[in-house]
Amino acid sequence: MTTSEEARLRITELRSSVARHNALYYENDAPELPDAEYDVLVRELRELEAQFPEFVDDSSPAQTVGGAPSATFAPVQHAIPMTSLDNAMDADELRAWGERVQNSLEGQQVKFVCELKIDGLAMSIRYVDGEMVTAATRGDGRVGEDVTANVRTISVIPQQLADAPSIFEVRGEVYMPRAVFEALNDEAAKTGERELVNPRNAAAGSLRQKDSSVTARRRLSFWAYQIGDHEGGPEHSTHDEALAYISELGFPVNPEVTVHSSFDDVVKFCESAVARRHDLDYDVDGVVIKVDDLAQREALGYTSRAPRWAIAFKFPPEERTTTLLDIRVSVGRTGRTTPFAVLDPVFVDGSTVSMATLHNEDQVRIKDVRPGDTVIVRKAGDVIPEVVGPVLSDRPEGTVPWTFPKHCECPLHSEFVRADGEADTRCVEPQCPFQRDQQIMYWASRGAMDIEGLGERTVVQLTERELVSDVADLYRLSADDVVDLEGFARPSAEKLIAAIDESRRQPAWRVLTGFGIKHLGPTVAQALIAARGSVRGVFTSSEAELSEVDGIGDVIAQSVTRWWELPIHRDLVDRLEAGGVVLDIDDRAVSESEALEHTLEGRAVVITGTVPGYTRDEAGAAVVARGGTSPGSVSRKTFALVLGDGAGASKLTKAERLGVPIIDATIFEEFLSTGAIPDRAD
Ligand code: NAD
Repeated sequence: MTTSEEARLRITELRSSVARHNALYYENDAPELPDAEYDVLVRELRELEAQFPEFVDDSSPAQTVGGAPSATFAPVQHAIPMTSLDNAMDADELRAWGERVQNSLEGQQVKFVCELKIDGLAMSIRYVDGEMVTAATRGDGRVGEDVTANVRTISVIPQQLADAPSIFEVRGEVYMPRAVFEALNDEAAKTGERELVNPRNAAAGSLRQKDSSVTARRRLSFWAYQIGDHEGGPEHSTHDEALAYISELGFPVNPEVTVHSSFDDVVKFCESAVARRHDLDYDVDGVVIKVDDLAQREALGYTSRAPRWAIAFKFPPEERTTTLLDIRVSVGRTGRTTPFAVLDPVFVDGSTVSMATLHNEDQVRIKDVRPGDTVIVRKAGDVIPEVVGPVLSDRPEGTVPWTFPKHCECPLHSEFVRADGEADTRCVEPQCPFQRDQQIMYWASRGAMDIEGLGERTVVQLTERELVSDVADLYRLSADDVVDLEGFARPSAEKLIAAIDESRRQPAWRVLTGFGIKHLGPTVAQALIAARGSVRGVFTSSEAELSEVDGIGDVIAQSVTRWWELPIHRDLVDRLEAGGVVLDIDDRAVSESEALEHTLEGRAVVITGTVPGYTRDEAGAAVVARGGTSPGSVSRKTFALVLGDGAGASKLTKAERLGVPIIDATIFEEFLSTGAIPDRAD
């Protein structure tokens, strides 16, 4: 039980915190908290104020709307206040509101209109004798900011209205279409500018520019959803009629408006909207449910900040905050490293997240996330979660910017090197045990030697017990060695040994692929073996001879000869041969295109950025040769997005949002040959 004094202290604390977040959100367009967590603070404040009415104060942020209008723009007094909306966080709260409405209207038949809640910013645009005169933000609900010059640059909003009432105010939401947001971020990535955080902040920031040519470049859009002040013109008895009239006057009205007599249908609409939210080209953060009949609305009236005749059903959050426990670096097969965040596990959008990628050194620097920080974690679609950024106000004292480690965590403490002009940092130690484990897994993968039963868990145990130090050692293993490993019994150990034995007679191109030489995947390996006859035939060819092979450029030829220059690699090939691996089986009796298995039959694979060893056309052609198609843009039908070097953000963001699997271009060849989406990209 909270005492009055405790409540007073907590109310003071919450008011100052909410006021601070309001200023960051409404005035600076730079929120520090995910909306869902801000909403929790406001709810607690409202509940305490309801429980302890003696502390209610009209200026409390629980009782007011929005934030103070900025001094950058002239103030505009709203003829009719612009309100906020009360929220329902789930179906129960929504039904409770429906019942309250129904009870207040005592037995009257009530119809409800459902509209998408567009995540942009509210705008009131006033026309006098059909001419646009002012466009104002909501501000604190009574006084907004004059952003007329900027709103004039929004092409979908008419400057003049034909047959308009003498005074007509339209209200609606200015938003930034996702496609525009993605394109702007692509551009920002290229010019090294900081990327926009989300379409809502981007829309608000774009609209509140002093220079309207900046707003014009941001290509904002608008959905109208209400009539404000008006004189003359037709009177309407329902919201639905009013929307039809707004549309007739030439304003864009969102097509997803439905009218329901049954509240069950309202709930169903809300549930279906949650499922469709990622299919739209604009962000929506909920559904607004409004009483349709305008006379009923009048009877229901307003609270100090919101109408009683409407409610916002909020979508479950897709962003959460948690503590960043550590930043660590994983090392892939080719030595490419990826920093990743170790998080205090947090439930985001349907699953628990304890790790999130941080992509590369620059991304960590730009985001400036530090171990100990509270960070915002986002999951768009069911792909890899990412860290959006830190909550700076919660940063503990004494943290320092994270620096990329100079050495790997592996027992050899291998050196990490980032070459000039490269985004990635690499582990350059050929003996690195982490790379070695990944390399062995690659050898065993379906695209290479295809050894069933040799997954990560087994490989790590084999190397840790020093039974295997490279792929040649696999061919010395016996069932007795394997039977003691965790997860094995006699039959499964024998099965693994049989699978290893079978791989001895794999075609030579698979052996060549299995070495994991940079730029050399199955297609290139097949071409090289076809031209040179065997693994040794390839390695004993000069760079010039290799680059004469159809489809092989200088880069691949150089990569192959460099690999062979290292004595350790020559020794490996000798030991494989000694272990019984056949190096000259050529299974290419049939022509090349016939030999290619249609692993991607009927599948759409989108390619973005540069795939190593391919031009854009060649990469597309390689997909087509596997029976697939290679369209230019990502949609729900896309099977996978291949992410190459220098790719912009737009396709990636869209794929993430739609849950389209993302394939790292370094494993493109493996992907072509198996058609399978790997569990992990490295
Ligand atoms: P709101 O956004 O929940 O609801 C009111 C607004 O919904 C209206 O002003 C209008 O702009 C908009 N809207 C969109 N589509 C609509 C439609 N079809 N019909 C009617 N209105 C529609 O309430 P609010 O008072 O604007 O702000 C609260 C929101 O802002 C919450 O989501 C809150 O989480 C967020 N916020 C976040 C922070 C933060 O720090 N993260 C701070 C302040 C506010």
